[in-house]
Amino acid sequence: MYFILPCYGCGNLLIVEEEQKTKRCPYCNCLLNLSKTRILRRVSTSREASRIVREMKLAKGCVSDKENLIEKE
Ligand SMILES: [Zn+2]
Repeated sequence: MYFILPCYGCGNLLIVEEEQKTKRCPYCNCLLNLSKTRILRRVSTSREASRIVREMKLAKGCVSDKENLIEKE
């Protein structure tokens, strides 16, 4: 089981495995205590977790693909 949760330091979405107690955010270096963090989604595979994170980022408007296109032009 994998959990998807927002970092309470920077708000980026992180994927953690069920047995983990803490998680170091790769974006802001904040150490998250997972028992105190609101879990957004629970999924069974890391692949599904990364797909959902990507969709949630797209829904928020942080579209990295679009930024890449602009840079190429
Ligand atoms: Zn963070």
